[in-house]
Amino acid sequence: MAIVKLDNHLIDQIAAGEVVERPASVVKELVENAVDAGASRIEIATAGGGKTLLRVTDDGCGIPEGELSLAVRRHCTSKLSGGLEKIATLGFRGEALPSVGSIARLSVRSRAEGHDEAFEILVDHGRCEGPRPTALSRGTVVEVRDLFQKVPARLKFLKSERAESAAITDVVRRLALAEPEIRFEIAGPDRTTTVFPAARDMGERIGQVVGEDFAANSVSINAEREDVRLTGLAGLPTFSRGNSLQQFLFVNGRPVRDKMLVSALRGGYADVMAKDRHPVAVLFLTLDPALVDVNVHPAKADVRFRDPGLVRGLIVGALRQAFAESGLRSSSEGAAGVLARMRAKADVVTPAPRRFDGFAPGGYFAEGFAAPKQAPYDPGASPFRPLDTAGAATIERPRNVTAEAPPSAGMAMAGMPDGDMATDASAAPEASTEPETYPLGAARAQLHGNYIVAETERGLVIVDQHAAHERLVYEALKQAIHGRALPSQMLLIPEIVDLAADDADRLCEHAGDLARLGLGIERFGPAAVAVRETPAILGQIDVARLLRDLSDELAEFGTRDTVTSRIDHVAATVACHGSVRSGRTLKLDEMNALLRGMERTPSASQCNHGRPTFIELGLDDIEKLFGRR
Ligand code: ADP
Ligand code: MG
Repeated sequence: MAIVKLDNHLIDQIAAGEVVERPASVVKELVENAVDAGASRIEIATAGGGKTLLRVTDDGCGIPEGELSLAVRRHCTSKLSGGLEKIATLGFRGEALPSVGSIARLSVRSRAEGHDEAFEILVDHGRCEGPRPTALSRGTVVEVRDLFQKVPARLKFLKSERAESAAITDVVRRLALAEPEIRFEIAGPDRTTTVFPAARDMGERIGQVVGEDFAANSVSINAEREDVRLTGLAGLPTFSRGNSLQQFLFVNGRPVRDKMLVSALRGGYADVMAKDRHPVAVLFLTLDPALVDVNVHPAKADVRFRDPGLVRGLIVGALRQAFAESGLRSSSEGAAGVLARMRAKADVVTPAPRRFDGFAPGGYFAEGFAAPKQAPYDPGASPFRPLDTAGAATIERPRNVTAEAPPSAGMAMAGMPDGDMATDASAAPEASTEPETYPLGAARAQLHGNYIVAETERGLVIVDQHAAHERLVYEALKQAIHGRALPSQMLLIPEIVDLAADDADRLCEHAGDLARLGLGIERFGPAAVAVRETPAILGQIDVARLLRDLSDELAEFGTRDTVTSRIDHVAATVACHGSVRSGRTLKLDEMNALLRGMERTPSASQCNHGRPTFIELGLDDIEKLFGRR
């Protein structure tokens, strides 16, 4: 077949294939145009998940009659006066309106600022009509009907009305975060109306879009490296989500979904969050427009940085520092949610008749506090039984719990290397002060073999002993990596672990680093590794499982991350294998040593998987629960 030049309609349809993937992409383009037009109010209406109708109304500068037909023609734009190096608008390609017009029925009504008349232009699957006079008091109304109706290939791939409608909301939320002063409203028969009123500042808009609880459970980020700035809020690791929909990333005010940025965000949380959880974050990157190319893809969601390493380092570094500085903060979500539930149940409990069989089934406390159902009263098992002194809990307040501890009893439990982590509370100078004055208070009891209950000045703290210990071991391992090597224990007979050849390669490549952690390995044939020593800190472990986990870890982060963060991952994996499992009974001084260790340890408020290591209940809250306030 001979080479021919495609006609304009075909060219527009081809462009539309890239710009317009689904109704939400149309909304993105139209709302971006309204933002570029300087609007202060933008209203979006949808029907049928955007498949039947999309309408965007703004009060921006409008389009003069003479330019309306250009606006719907390809490669016509009012925005590129500064060249591609200095893009200050969201649009610049002059492709959106003609693309949409080629695959739908498009109408653009507009009244340009300072003009007395409004005009309308129609484009029906590429066929243009107008402009002709119409009625409109100000701004622009763009309406799109029957999107993709004549493009069956695309129509087939659209999701349900609900999913498309949700995708539209997502696009609007992202743009609303980028433009806090603009009022956004999104309504239609396929949804409940959402309004983001004009906000005073970014903080207020973040509250509207992401939620007030996010603001309360995040740290603020403000970092700069070589004229690249990063600002915004990063959710506490314990405030994680099951998907990445709550990650809002912006480059020079443009919402993006760039892979490198998303991976940098993950990198910042890598230490403190499980792989299957996702952080919540609103982050703005600001840099000289000449240092970033936004013209990578027609949808403009990807960007390319001149120096991606710098940007990645800035993000990862800023997040890690913020979490380390936030120290002993745990998400309030867990405690607040539990409180709400307790209170809700407490409300339906009728106080009368009060009986003194509090812990019997159906008793006064049974509903609100989930007392053991089977429990016939057994004085020996009662929480009020006289305590044996060797037991975990004690009724009289010990004046100084920790001083009674034999030195380094805490060490033995925590398995810490001496000195470094100073978990040994009895050796600490504060040991003579009232333990309740410590942030995590004085240990009073251990429940269900895993929960330490401590009394603080303001209320009580419940610690997940396994999670907390895992964190401490991890931090100790990290210190060991950067300081002196950890002691190891020789195995009597080397253990041979069979692995895939490339897993074995990867592990042996890092044999030096692993040796610092006390794990001595050697190549043993093409597809096996011999383990001669294991880290003493871990005690008895399943060596084969540890090696498999480690090689998975190295495979995942091997190519992308820096050597240090790779090693930090190794440490996290090792820590997980060696932590005090729940179920182990701790003595009071061991518990207090753990609490003091947590207070001294950076990022101690969550375990390596991002679960909280402790929750705090204020005395206020407890009193409210009992109706004392
Ligand atoms: P781009 O935004 O890349 O310039 P578009 O096809 O989206 O390309 O829009 C073409 C032109 O139409 C814009 O450059 C702008 O001048 C004008 N325009 C589109 N939408 C609006 C609007 N809501 N208000 C004012 N002008 C608009
Ligand atoms: Mg545009």
